[in-house]
Amino acid sequence: MSRFFSSDYSSLVPYTPGEQPQIQNLIKLNTNESPFPPSPKAQAYAKAAAENVQLYSDPTARPLHAAIAKTIGVSPDEVLATNGSDEILNFAFMAFCDKMHPAAFADLTYGFYPVFAQLNDIPYTEIPLAEDFTIRKSDYLGIGKTIFIANPNAPTGILLPKKDVEEIIASNPDNVVVVDEAYVDFGGESCVDLIHKYENLLVTQTYSKSRSMAGARLGFGVGCAALITDLNTIKYSTNPYNINAMTMAAGIGAMEDEAYTRENCETIIKNRTWTMKEMQKLGFYVTDSKTNFLFAKHNRISGLDIYTKLRAKNILVRHLSPERIRDFNRITIGSMEQMQALICALGEIVREAEA
Ligand code: PMP
Repeated sequence: MSRFFSSDYSSLVPYTPGEQPQIQNLIKLNTNESPFPPSPKAQAYAKAAAENVQLYSDPTARPLHAAIAKTIGVSPDEVLATNGSDEILNFAFMAFCDKMHPAAFADLTYGFYPVFAQLNDIPYTEIPLAEDFTIRKSDYLGIGKTIFIANPNAPTGILLPKKDVEEIIASNPDNVVVVDEAYVDFGGESCVDLIHKYENLLVTQTYSKSRSMAGARLGFGVGCAALITDLNTIKYSTNPYNINAMTMAAGIGAMEDEAYTRENCETIIKNRTWTMKEMQKLGFYVTDSKTNFLFAKHNRISGLDIYTKLRAKNILVRHLSPERIRDFNRITIGSMEQMQALICALGEIVREAEA
């Protein structure tokens, strides 16, 4: 740290992103990316846009907002696209939290929430998940805090039923409830339609998972027009050109190719079901994931051992450090070929441990 670094940030513990190692033939199952390339239409639009990057990208992102709005069934002024959904989440902390409106989220959830809270000097409460890692709805009813719920949750993969989310939104009418639907396309039920019923609901989604565009950095928020206006105030006060021209074009192409996204999601769901059953046969406890990853622990081998032994076999998964989940690993669902290699490697690890 230099002596010039603001004391406001000197104790900030930044978010630790998953590794992106450049190792040949690595089976990379650590950051919940898609194993499929982006839609050919997204690629073609991005290439065409690359020819004009001497110009700034469109700060209004109007055509992109229109394409997103059409796909998800809202109006363009109820959408704000951002540089990954991380950016809209940070905007939401900035716009809807302060000392009078502290934040609240689960103790085991997306690791960026506490970082955004600390970055913006926002007090926050971490609400423990139940023993089985589900969100206890009653802990969130009428708490008068700005609530962030990842649904399905990460890293647990577990879905909170939509009727429970709605009860939480309805019971906190004077606070914004942010529902982070990064993984909703893999078996969740979106709350997007509820934005017309609740002015305090912001739903966030991403192109990083189901739309195979993690490296393009594109996400969006959906809420009533007044919430979107607030978020635009933050956007235009930080970076009006937050989405580059290639990504903006690709984002339109991907939305025009929903059939491609749906087909890939179905494949991931099929691969998830197969992998879960095979892991259970090997002695793993696996949560009921509605995402593109599994959250699993073995009945005899530690989580770190599994992680290290898989790594030695050129398979990278995510091991997280919190005490409560130390015996688990989060494993991205990839192609069938990748899943077969994973099960083969796990089989060897389990047999070795038993020998
Ligand atoms: N929310 C959750 C729950 C996530 O797991 C992630 C990705 N790690 C994000 C949001 C952010 O994704 P992105 O910025 O790539 O849209």
